[in-house]
Amino acid sequence: MSQQLESELLKLYQQQLEVGVISQDIHNDIHKLTPITQDKALKFYIQHNPHRVLRGIADIPNPTPKHIIKYKGGIPCFLCMDNIQVQWPNEQGHHCTIDDIPLVFLPNLYPIFPLHFTVAAGTHLPQIMNIPTLITLAKTLPTHWIIQNGPDAGATNPEHFHYQTFLPSNLPTNLPITHYPTTPIIQKNSLQIDRLTHPASIYRFQFKTREESQSVTTILMDYLDRNPNHRLNILATYCPNKAQWQLMALLRHTERRTDLYRSGQPGYAEAAGIISTTTESHDRWIQNNLTLYTQLMTDIAAPKESETDFQTIISQICS
Ligand SMILES: [Zn+2]
Repeated sequence: MSQQLESELLKLYQQQLEVGVISQDIHNDIHKLTPITQDKALKFYIQHNPHRVLRGIADIPNPTPKHIIKYKGGIPCFLCMDNIQVQWPNEQGHHCTIDDIPLVFLPNLYPIFPLHFTVAAGTHLPQIMNIPTLITLAKTLPTHWIIQNGPDAGATNPEHFHYQTFLPSNLPTNLPITHYPTTPIIQKNSLQIDRLTHPASIYRFQFKTREESQSVTTILMDYLDRNPNHRLNILATYCPNKAQWQLMALLRHTERRTDLYRSGQPGYAEAAGIISTTTESHDRWIQNNLTLYTQLMTDIAAPKESETDFQTIISQICS
């Protein structure tokens, strides 16, 4: 299934580029990465992608679908196929059932990464964390990175259940998230959990068995259930050569100073070290406010007591 799905996605993406559903300009911009360093240490990359500014311009529904589903601000949901077929008829999706869940791979019209897809539920379901299917997707698409931004954690719109998948081929090999030093938390059989030395609370889970994947799911879902302020972003990958999954979980908190950063809702890409900007003044603003970037990452971090709670859950589940 993997290779067939990968080639279907490539074909669909190229077709959507050819008919102009995905802008060629945006596609070209995803490779424009500027490293931002401070004290000789790489902090993150700025992706200057001015065409993404179009993302903020909503289409006027014409004609209006019969059963229109809207999200915040009354904008029709752009992940509902009923709306897509009426309002954006050239946009195509690839239907695929994973773990008995009907999903649609929709090309991200404003990509940050190559082959950037939004993988949406076939019907309008609320955004919730579904870690087992995230893990299945990672093994199904081993050359891709799979992200899920949980509710109120960078995925507030359009409130329609979704993952994101992409090829990391535009990313530099020294991307901050893959190079931060780590502190080991626990190691048992082929399950290893480490905390990244990062201003945000990022934990790395490496595991090889389904039982271990269930333990990891239990740890993360217990953490979410423990406190309504707990939020998660997760990046999942699978390495066929090692037969090993890797999950990078960003623990975060609802309380944060959104005034520190203009987009206000940093998601996984920002924490991983890629900030997509639309104007040169935005580039300059970020470059001139490096300490604020660190402050932003610190602010979205889980508070100390939540991390202590998290590490207690890890000990309990893994003992
Ligand atoms: Zn929807």
